[in-house]
Amino acid sequence: MSRREFTKAVYAQIVKRAMLESGEIACEGCGLILGKKRYQVDHTIADALQVDKSRKLTVDDGKLLGLECCHKPKTKQDVKVIAKAKRVEANYLRTNAQSRPIQSPGFPKSEKTAHRSTKAQLPPRQLYQAVDSHPHASTETCRRIER
Ligand SMILES: [Zn+2]
Repeated sequence: MSRREFTKAVYAQIVKRAMLESGEIACEGCGLILGKKRYQVDHTIADALQVDKSRKLTVDDGKLLGLECCHKPKTKQDVKVIAKAKRVEANYLRTNAQSRPIQSPGFPKSEKTAHRSTKAQLPPRQLYQAVDSHPHASTETCRRIER
């Protein structure tokens, strides 16, 4: 699923929240006054980690971070956390699949099949005939060659 983005209205609200009385915008991560420095509204919880993506993003889901002071380091950290979460999930699914063999009670025996299985089984059909029935088995030379 794609990454959700903040709507313009929510984005504006976050910027407003980060704005000081003086009208300057401060980083919500470290409090640094950004002035003309660039900033980014960051997802408080990395979007890839959120399960419910149908929920609309609100002001609480975002944090205004200075691009240099806080945004870059956090993005790096997010990538690590997401990668780890994916590994953990993959491991979980794999080990779970292995430890659960298919358990089936099988089909219930009907009267017909129960009767059938009581009959004596025929010996398995031989692919090769026994040596004794070999046409030359009685001759000494043939036996020697075969040994
Ligand atoms: Zn900062």
